[in-house]
Amino acid sequence: MKKLVVITGASSGFGMALAQAFAKDGYPMLLLARRVEKMDALNLPNTLCRKVDVTDNEAFTAAVREAETLYGKTDLLINNAGIMLLGSIESQDPTEWKNMLDVNVMGVLNGMQIVINDMKARQSGTIINISSIAGVQPFAAHAAYCASKYGVTGLTAVVRGEMAAHNVRVLSVCPGAVTTELLGHTTDQTIIDGYNEWKESVGATNITADDVATTIKFSYELPQAVSLREIIITDTMQDA
Ligand code: NDP
Repeated sequence: MKKLVVITGASSGFGMALAQAFAKDGYPMLLLARRVEKMDALNLPNTLCRKVDVTDNEAFTAAVREAETLYGKTDLLINNAGIMLLGSIESQDPTEWKNMLDVNVMGVLNGMQIVINDMKARQSGTIINISSIAGVQPFAAHAAYCASKYGVTGLTAVVRGEMAAHNVRVLSVCPGAVTTELLGHTTDQTIIDGYNEWKESVGATNITADDVATTIKFSYELPQAVSLREIIITDTMQDA
């Protein structure tokens, strides 16, 4: 029996593509998101789906422990759940900043703490945090999103160092623009239109969520001794 894979944000986009890719190879899984019906509808074998908001540490912990009683300890946690609310620093509603920092940063910290002590004790395990290319370089109208994703890149690097002596891998994956539901949550239509126009004008529309999932799965399936510490993955035609 393969070991337990926990994926947050599995109700759409990268998370859903990851769930389908890991299911094909028979991994037992725990899938987490708020829209549980979307994950249930995948009807994947050996898979527990739970309605969990990653900012709710207690519910997140309970779901992981429930899955671990069924499938054994978590060997891979993919902290993928995230939101992108783009906006100008001059006018964006601060509640959008707070929501983003809560989900994108606190959610990742919650997930890491839930699994890391067991991984450390077992001297094995992998945590993959989904950051963004906006977690390693700036983009206009991305101030708070960049803050959250630079946060993910930074905290991942810190914990990677802390876990090195315990043989626990801690990776960050930094995707470029890939079509999913992500942009749809931005409330400023001018920004959405500008983002889409840029993507189309340079032709950066061919990479898919499945491509990202394949890359992430590859990084996990390498031997435990091999750490692809930071992966930046974009459409070949993305020019920034
Ligand atoms: P989607 O919007 O398609 O998926 C986001 C997922 O996160 C959904 O399953 C959503 O589920 C879940 N989610 C959001 N908030 C919460 C929450 N509070 N608790 C639990 N789950 C939550 O976007 P992507 O697949 O594109 O994004 C996945 C990750 O990749 C994000 O971290 C994003 O920042 C990052 N990323 C995406 C890029 C892209 O261009 N697509 C580029 C770079 C990084 P639900 O709403 O059901 O809770």
